[in-house]
Amino acid sequence: MSAERPARPEASASTRPTSPVAPAVPRTGALRPLGVDEVRLEGGFWGSRQELNRSTTIPHAEHWVEEMGWAPNFELAATGSLPEGRRGTEFADSEVYKLLEGMAWEVGRTGDAALDARLRRLAKRVAAAQEDDGYLHTAFGRAGQPPRYSNLEWGHELYCFGHLIQAGVARLRTHGEDQLVRVALAVAHHVCAEFGDPDDTRLGGHPEIETALAELSRATGDPRYLEQARLFVERRGRGHLGEIGFGPEYFQDDVPVREAEVLRGHAVRALYLAAGAVDVGVDTGDAELVAAVDRQMQTTLARRTYLTGAMGARHDGEAFGGDFMLPPDRAYAESCAGIASVQTNQRLLLHDAAAQHADVVERTLYNVVAAAVGEDGASFFYTNPLHQRTVGRAPAPDEVSPRAASSVRAPWFAVSCCPTNLIRTIASLGTLLGGVGGEDGKELHLHHFMPATVRTRLDDGAEAALQLRTVYPDDGRVTVTALEAPSDGAAVRLRVPSWAAGAQLIGPEGEARAVPSGQMTGPVVLHAEESLTLQLPVEPRLTRADPRVDAVRGQVAVEQGPLVLALESPDLAAAGLAEDVAAAELVTAHPLARRDGRTWVQVRTRALPESSWPYRSTSDDGTAREAGKVADVALVPYHAWADRGPSTMRVWIPEA
Ligand SMILES: [Zn+2]
Repeated sequence: MSAERPARPEASASTRPTSPVAPAVPRTGALRPLGVDEVRLEGGFWGSRQELNRSTTIPHAEHWVEEMGWAPNFELAATGSLPEGRRGTEFADSEVYKLLEGMAWEVGRTGDAALDARLRRLAKRVAAAQEDDGYLHTAFGRAGQPPRYSNLEWGHELYCFGHLIQAGVARLRTHGEDQLVRVALAVAHHVCAEFGDPDDTRLGGHPEIETALAELSRATGDPRYLEQARLFVERRGRGHLGEIGFGPEYFQDDVPVREAEVLRGHAVRALYLAAGAVDVGVDTGDAELVAAVDRQMQTTLARRTYLTGAMGARHDGEAFGGDFMLPPDRAYAESCAGIASVQTNQRLLLHDAAAQHADVVERTLYNVVAAAVGEDGASFFYTNPLHQRTVGRAPAPDEVSPRAASSVRAPWFAVSCCPTNLIRTIASLGTLLGGVGGEDGKELHLHHFMPATVRTRLDDGAEAALQLRTVYPDDGRVTVTALEAPSDGAAVRLRVPSWAAGAQLIGPEGEARAVPSGQMTGPVVLHAEESLTLQLPVEPRLTRADPRVDAVRGQVAVEQGPLVLALESPDLAAAGLAEDVAAAELVTAHPLARRDGRTWVQVRTRALPESSWPYRSTSDDGTAREAGKVADVALVPYHAWADRGPSTMRVWIPEA
């Protein structure tokens, strides 16, 4: 690239870091989120994972984007040597962008100067590959490469731009304008120039640019980006994209967004589009569009979502299955789909402040996001099935795995969207903790329970600081203390999860009252140094599925607070039973018990006879009804399965 470059779009006066410093900050809505600079997680379930993300997962991904050639692709582009030597898929650029976004949130959260220097170096390499008109992609447009926008269905150019823009937004909000921000602004400017004609019908095969442009508009105050996001949302669903073998449903080009009844097709595409449509609907005052996505999400939750919160049943096309088609062993349940569900539900939550959206966020965080990263911080699940039938092989630390390998977490994948997506999600996780809103903008809503300190300003400018103390989800007691509060007190509301029947709230005067589940508590006013305690029942409980989920009919699952539990082969062996979850049945008449920090169930196993034909007459009671052997077996949280190495596992267990 030449040193001389044409004038770039300037960041407007509003492109200073503004509060709140969060990934999604709608212009209007019932709540504004907390910023990464307003929430400090202090250990506990998520604080320790956030620290592991900083210390291990980010450097791990920095290593792998070099190892795979994805970061070096930008140097090849800058020196004019592409396409020779380019490595990775047509969306490999996006992994570098998601990593940059995660690094930006982390620097914003901690002020880590060494990480900031690494971020700048990586951003500089990306910037060097940008073309004079703002276009930036390593797989298109050069001699020997397909022309720009010649394969909108599969090319992922706009998808990659979306991730670059989100990284730019993260940097803008956490730091202010710099090289990464200018690169993102130039890409966005290019997109608006290229695709901004209202008569243009072109759009990308993988949604993502919509939510990114809407957020850039929020962060800069520039309405052009929001309008471009709106155009992309409205263009989809009208059959403008060509066929790539999965049908138009694959990329949601079958039905316009505002007319669809349910999420369908490729799960990550559907959910990123949903998030972008909420952004556009909220910021343009298009209540019909927001209501359409809300309705689609409610139907998807009612019919197309796993107990873990995971979405996407089909391996073929990485797609949603039909209604109630939720096989536990063939669950695709991509980690990225879980993250995209968190993003969409968080946007719906900020819009209407309804606790049900935060319930979905919590379920997905504890049972998809937490499961997708190993306890070493350097291994990942791409798919998240609820039943693992065969014992896998642990890949070597320097070995790349196929994406759908699910029996053991892998250090990296040839298609590695999930690890970098997890990095940015966990780095910015504190912003999900709660929001500021209510009728007068003076209420603090707390949606999640983690040891933390929150320091924020209410809408009238008054400062409030809260301290949360809990060992949730191991225990259901959550204490909130006001460290600072306005003279008339801070009004605090807490989410009571939908599973928490019998929850109690103990106010500052020590008065206890029952609080209904599945909604926010009424406001409790805390003056400085006053506390309230929420007591949630986290005893283990048995769960059955709607009978239309045929794949798990006659089976039960055990949940405990927000955690889905699982039966895993090492625990069967430890109990002296056959090490095969296929032969296990749950004796549900036996009470669930907690001891030694674990949940115990009574399990019966029977010798399953080998036969040449796995079916038999119902009149043949045979060996299958042998009494078998019964023992107490400890369950594991689903998020921790396979932490002890290759195993078999099941969430849904047949009733004895
Ligand atoms: Zn993924």
